[in-house]
Amino acid sequence: MEPGIIRKLDEDVVNRIAAGEIVQRPANALKELIENSLDAHATNIIITVKAGGLKYLQIQDNGTGIRCDNLDIVCERFTTSKLKEFEDLQAINTYGFRGEALASISHIAHLSIMTKTAADKCAYKVSYENGKVKGQIKACAGNTGTQITVEDIFYNVVARKKALRSPNEEYTHIMDVVGGYAIHNSKVAFTLKKFGENTDIRTPLNSSTVENVRIVHGNQIARELLEIEIKEPTLKFELHGYITNVNYSHKKGMMLLFINHRMVVSTSIRKAVDSVYSTYLPKNSHSIVYLSIELDPKNVDVNVHPTKHEVQFLYEEQIIDKIKSCVESKLLSCNSSRVMYTQARLPGASAVEEIIKKTTDGAKVYAKDLVRVNADTQKIDKFFRAQTNRENTETSINDAKIAVGVGKLNDNDSLETLDARKTNSNVNDINKDSEGKNEVNKEYNRNIDCNNDKTGNQPISFTNGEGHSQNGKINKVPNIEISNNMEQVDIEENVVQRIPKWSNAVGNSSTYIDPKQSFKTRTFEYERIETKLTSVKQLRMEIESQCNMNLREILANLIFIACIDSYRSLVQHSTKLYLCDTRRLTEELFYETILYDFQNLGFIKLSNALPLEELFVLGLSADDAWDSELGDRRELGVQMVGMLVSKRDMLLEYFSLEMNAKELLALPLLLDGHTPYMGALPTYLVRLVTEVNWESEKECFDTFSRQTAIFYSQVNPDSSTSSSEQWTQEHIIFPAIRKNFLPTTQFTTNGTILQVASLGDLYKVFERC
Ligand code: ADP
Ligand code: MG
Repeated sequence: MEPGIIRKLDEDVVNRIAAGEIVQRPANALKELIENSLDAHATNIIITVKAGGLKYLQIQDNGTGIRCDNLDIVCERFTTSKLKEFEDLQAINTYGFRGEALASISHIAHLSIMTKTAADKCAYKVSYENGKVKGQIKACAGNTGTQITVEDIFYNVVARKKALRSPNEEYTHIMDVVGGYAIHNSKVAFTLKKFGENTDIRTPLNSSTVENVRIVHGNQIARELLEIEIKEPTLKFELHGYITNVNYSHKKGMMLLFINHRMVVSTSIRKAVDSVYSTYLPKNSHSIVYLSIELDPKNVDVNVHPTKHEVQFLYEEQIIDKIKSCVESKLLSCNSSRVMYTQARLPGASAVEEIIKKTTDGAKVYAKDLVRVNADTQKIDKFFRAQTNRENTETSINDAKIAVGVGKLNDNDSLETLDARKTNSNVNDINKDSEGKNEVNKEYNRNIDCNNDKTGNQPISFTNGEGHSQNGKINKVPNIEISNNMEQVDIEENVVQRIPKWSNAVGNSSTYIDPKQSFKTRTFEYERIETKLTSVKQLRMEIESQCNMNLREILANLIFIACIDSYRSLVQHSTKLYLCDTRRLTEELFYETILYDFQNLGFIKLSNALPLEELFVLGLSADDAWDSELGDRRELGVQMVGMLVSKRDMLLEYFSLEMNAKELLALPLLLDGHTPYMGALPTYLVRLVTEVNWESEKECFDTFSRQTAIFYSQVNPDSSTSSSEQWTQEHIIFPAIRKNFLPTTQFTTNGTILQVASLGDLYKVFERC
């Protein structure tokens, strides 16, 4: 085949090819035209579009206008008012300088200009084709500024026109360009509208960046913006911008980047910023970022691409590093205000089953499912209690003391004889008298010595095992003595010693507990009294039938994380974190304990017997609902004492509640190391009379156990003792729950146990950390 003949291309063809490189779609043409208007110092730019700019694209500004005598050459290639010599390029501060935009557009579209300078008396109008004036320049009426109309873009480049998908898509690109320039040039008013339709974007004159973000992208994004700023004189680099905080995430994300006020794309900057956000945002979600970077023009080569869309600049690596660390520190500093959109899920029975299946069916364990199983090595409390001072310790970790508040009533002589020392123990509830006087009565503090030297070495429940004989006579029982002469012990030392003792006593928290093991299946090395009472057996059966085995597995192998307060704690099971209502759990634990240790409970001996009558009077006055019509409180108290005392043989034999005709001598010991909050004792006694059904056997045991469990699960409302409560919860209550507790299915639905986090889900969030 013969070689082809080389010919010089027709100039029009050359220009059309070149134009196609600069203007690939209407939005590119519009960008050039907006830049021209900004170069001409316009403060108001109005853009009107038909069919995504393919049919009609008009831009009107109030800038300097074009001199009438320049109109003949303005659309020729390389005609510009912005650059004279090559050296000027080094310090160029206008968008345009090549003199190519208008020429290019005129080669691929019908272009017409109407313009008026301030000095001219009238405006001039002219049309162009292939860079040349078509027809004549006509004088007409018009405002100062320039109006450029581009029609039928690519009418003569069919291939290009076909490549464009749809007017709608083109319009989206136009919106991006107008929105971007409006945000970056917030002092200039921008208007974008479709021909004959409502305005899509309208930003006011002298607006602000954030306000324009709000107008263009909506309030949801605008309110999540954080401002960032960098000034690096050594690199001759400055940055100002806004970035969405970590609360916000966007499916696609957007980076609006301006370098020296030119809207550009920089893959490397985008990647760098994305990499910072990936630590904070869920997978496949992104940020919205606006950055305006100013560099020494000498360091920027804007000439790399004909559309000036991509730029290259010196010190790119260092500058990107600076941007990364700035974004990072901004996000970190605002992390504290992060709103956690977590959903506290009630683990419905089925959900709990699911958890169990996943964690215990012996399937392969993935790295993400590996969990710490020994909570003793490090606990979350460590971070909160680091700076406990001595003063604090004395009041808060003083778990050996329990305040017994006994309010002064009309007649309190006999109680005063009981006492001990005056303290600040806060038992206002009890002390409020019936007239509602808020005067805090005399308060007493009794120190209950539950010194671990006495009880700590005892294994669970009964070492000696004898309990008391069927006839109710006490032989030898384990007990906790409550005395009022406790010596001040070194509290810190005390606590340190205690932890291992107690945790040994109630079982090492890190060992696996077979969920089948519980109250139901306990075995004892010592002799116990086996109850023959059907009613108690029935009550136990009810507990067992309501027990949720999945929940039992969770609680049997829970790892204690932290007490949030005296009423709530966090526990972990496998890879899940649960929030527990400690009081409800404790109440149920005690209820079950009483029924399963029926006739076998230990004693908490009161070293000074408490007069029942006074306790009842106190209990009655604590009741807000007290109705004076019911008669004299003391009278009623006496009656109640009589009622309770009449049951004392039974109470002693079955529940280890010991009293003589006048005084309370001992309370049941439900759990080694645990003593009830004595401030609640008077109310408890009153309730034993009023709330317990003494008529029927089964109901009696049920309601007595319930009332006792309620009493034992109460904590001292005085916040200064909360540390000791929390210590007890961690080292006494939860280990007991692990060992024996039979949780009811209701816990999964009534909020007693809530799943708050799962490691698997957290992994999804932090996957790319
Ligand atoms: P460049 O912007 O590179 O100079 P253009 O082809 O975009 O080249 O524009 C050519 C010239 O036309 C500009 O230098 C400017 O003097 C003039 N011009 C274009 N648009 C406007 C406008 N909207 N207002 C005033 N002058 C304009
Ligand atoms: Mg230009």
